[in-house]
Amino acid sequence: MVHGTRHAALQICSSTLIFLKLSSFVSDLPAESTVKNYCQKLCDVKKQYKVAELISPGLEAVGIFTNFIVTQHIQEALLSHANIRGGRCQSFLRLMKQGVMFFADGYERAKMFDSSFVSFLRNNNPCLGKIEYFLRWSNCNCRKRCLCLPARHLCRIRLYERIPTTAVLPSYVSKVRATNNYVVIPVSSLTNLCFYVEVKEIVQEAEIVHTYAMEPVNDLEKE
Ligand SMILES: [Zn+2]
Repeated sequence: MVHGTRHAALQICSSTLIFLKLSSFVSDLPAESTVKNYCQKLCDVKKQYKVAELISPGLEAVGIFTNFIVTQHIQEALLSHANIRGGRCQSFLRLMKQGVMFFADGYERAKMFDSSFVSFLRNNNPCLGKIEYFLRWSNCNCRKRCLCLPARHLCRIRLYERIPTTAVLPSYVSKVRATNNYVVIPVSSLTNLCFYVEVKEIVQEAEIVHTYAMEPVNDLEKE
């Protein structure tokens, strides 16, 4: 990612941008070209995962559903954030959205890649956070695994707040801090998977960890 220390920050930003934009670079290549076919083969991760349920076109619950015990605490969150009362909940740990896999924090691989850090919309405001788990709610009382409809697919997210910094950062990078607030939102409100980066700094022999979130750049802003 970085070659030497010269303009290190710029190198990190441009490498990250290339990675974030990789799939759109590939789709912009001339159709049916050898280069495009080759790149698509490299990027193709299709059918290496088990779809538990097709939620809507381009949106899939992945893996298996497991029974989820709704505590008083979660019950209140479901009611206040999603207006849900009663019924039953099953949990799952992965969600495929428009070709991008979102992982809940509890999923083993999520820890390795930090693939549970997301941006999402809440009351039309862009927010950042970490996915704790996904929920499938249905208005039934089945005890075994079920796919009863109608159903709603939600996720519980730990909110991260953007904090001011004196460093000059590109618009898609935010300095963030975990909060103790959690929200429950529909999976359709997830907008992007983000990069989450920890930078350690030693100040007077004490280690300070700075955390940053990088959001994929949307094409309108880039123009
Ligand atoms: Zn059911």
